[in-house]
Amino acid sequence: MKVLVINAGSSSLKYQLIDTENEYVIAKGICERIAIGGSVLCYKPTGKDPIEVKKDMKNHTDAVKMVLDALIAPDTGVIKSMSEIGAVGHRIVHGGERFSSSVLITDEIIKTIEELSELAPLHNPANLMGIRACKEIMPDVPMVGVFDTAFHQTMPPEAYLYGLSYDAYREMMIRRYGFHGTSHYYVSRRAIELLGKPEHETRIVTCHLGNGSSITAVKGGKSIDTSMGFTPLEGVPMGTRCGNIDPAIVMYLMDKKNWDIKKVKEYMNKKSGMLGISGVSSDFRDLSAASESGNERAKIAVDLFCYHVKKYIGAYSAAMNGLDAIVFTAGVGENDREVREKILAGLDFLGVDTDFELNRNCPRGKEAVITKPGSKVKVFVIPTDEEMVIARDTAALAKR
Ligand code: AMP
Repeated sequence: MKVLVINAGSSSLKYQLIDTENEYVIAKGICERIAIGGSVLCYKPTGKDPIEVKKDMKNHTDAVKMVLDALIAPDTGVIKSMSEIGAVGHRIVHGGERFSSSVLITDEIIKTIEELSELAPLHNPANLMGIRACKEIMPDVPMVGVFDTAFHQTMPPEAYLYGLSYDAYREMMIRRYGFHGTSHYYVSRRAIELLGKPEHETRIVTCHLGNGSSITAVKGGKSIDTSMGFTPLEGVPMGTRCGNIDPAIVMYLMDKKNWDIKKVKEYMNKKSGMLGISGVSSDFRDLSAASESGNERAKIAVDLFCYHVKKYIGAYSAAMNGLDAIVFTAGVGENDREVREKILAGLDFLGVDTDFELNRNCPRGKEAVITKPGSKVKVFVIPTDEEMVIARDTAALAKR
């Protein structure tokens, strides 16, 4: 089945057309600057040159129309007509406690996603714009929702509850949800295959390290704890997010600086983390370059990031009573050898015997094992593929 995978943001829409029979990506691309002027569609059929189309898109419906036009264009298109698309899969950020797996989208499901917007005010409404646009243009094509939070719904209460009153959970749904679930699921499945052990015996720490980062403990194939929490702000310090801090700092800042909630939110989400500490950039490539040319704060930022990731690996090994594999994925995890080296140095007490030479020579963006053959704990670099998970789930549900 040919599945159109849609990842809609507030002003962007990423897409991939995937043939699920052979898991082949037929074409992919992105619409940017939707509804803000200067919109542009990037369309890349696999194996061919990318095409850019500059044309105003006043909303997500215009964007989906342009994507479909590009896919069926007589000379550069990849399908003859829209009817070849068997289903559409949508990435949805927040499924709350309501969704622990992917679902066929109905009007009732749309309503529930809307209700969950309270928990993800920036993301769910944008995801819904993508859903509504496709519904308008392709009303008879089945649509499936795949949730970033779903994989983490297996966490036990001691992992998902905070040390607040129980009412905070019962009345306001304040709990750990976790994010990047589709990625943690994909790479942990692959790691289980590579380990060649029965799934129920496996204990894996998956490190999704990108601009946003999260670490997950995957025991017996299920997420039992994860570093992001009620929102993606919790966990390791990230590109621009602060990660874990003493919650009293929020009150202190508001008092000292006379900041309102909006200001604190922006400070902690946009001006902290790697950017805030280094004063240079949120991008690990820039940090590495700055550090090499002697910028001490850039070096401290990366060291702090690696230290926090290492602490999670230790904590989750304890939570799982041992460890069989560590997985690195996403922009930083797949590409940044120095970050991996810093995280893995000094983990030999856990049985991690890293081959640092292999790590240094590991080709970017390719799957690799970077531990020595006898290492008790294996370390894998596994490129993530959230779109493929979405396409697989979508085809499976649409066929039913
Ligand atoms: P993501 O959020 O997964 O797209 O990852 C974005 C992050 O990956 C940015 O901080 C980039 O600096 C980092 N990244 C991407 N490519 C490389 C690379 N070749 N070396 C180091 N970091 C990289």
